[in-house]
This record gives sequence, C-alpha cells and structure tokens, in this order.
Amino acid sequence: MVNYQEIISKATDARKNAYCPYSGFSVGACLVCSDGKMYTGCNVENASYGETVCAERVAFLKAVSDGKRGFCAIAIVGGKGEITDFTYPCGSCRQVLSELADSGLEIVLFNGSEHKICTLGQLFPNSFGSKDIK
Ligand SMILES: [Zn+2]
Repeated sequence: MVNYQEIISKATDARKNAYCPYSGFSVGACLVCSDGKMYTGCNVENASYGETVCAERVAFLKAVSDGKRGFCAIAIVGGKGEITDFTYPCGSCRQVLSELADSGLEIVLFNGSEHKICTLGQLFPNSFGSKDIK
C-alpha cells in the first residue's frame, strides 16, 4: 500500500535539489519499489540542453543501479516557483518508465493542493518496447 502523501512530500523535498538554471522549472520525484524502498530524484539541466536529465529518470536510474526491479508508483511534483499545476512525465521519461516498469505503475501527480493518480498504461498506450524487437 503506497502512502501517497508521503511520496508527494518526498518528491517535494527532492525538488529543492533541482539544478535548473536554464528553465527555472524544478521537478522532484519519488519512486516506490515493490519492496517498499523509495528513491528520489530531481531534474539536472545542462548548458547542452539535450544532456538534461529529468527527475523521474534520475529516480529510476538510482533504483536500477542499486539493483532494484519491480516498481509500484512514482510521485512527480514540478513547476516554476510555487506548485500550481500537475506536471506530467515527458515523452522521453514515458519511454524509459515503460522499459523498467509495467503498465500498472501508478503515476502520482500533485498540483499544490490535490493529487491525482493515473497509470503508465493510460499515459503511454501502445508503446514500443522489448516485445517489438524479438
Ligand atoms: Zn522527462
């Protein structure tokens, strides 16, 4: 059972570490593994914009590099300054998430006052993946 308020809080804390001197758009994420362990991430921008890494991918790469497989949920909190809207994962992150998690992964979004939950399958249907390159 995922404690949504807890992971939103951890994502909000992780957001404080965002390195985003170019966009000013800071994002934090908190990933929950199936064993309950949590990994946070923040976006890390680069002057060569294409090298920027999003918060969601940072959290996933930390978890996978720590040997984790199997994930339940990821909270994402982002915006410029005060949080006023939901921040959805970008297309690149959706592709990476679909490689590492199943379509039932819960994506927990927060707009500063309330949260909503969707699944990876809802956000990224008919995705290209390992099944396509057998
Ligand atoms: Zn992204």
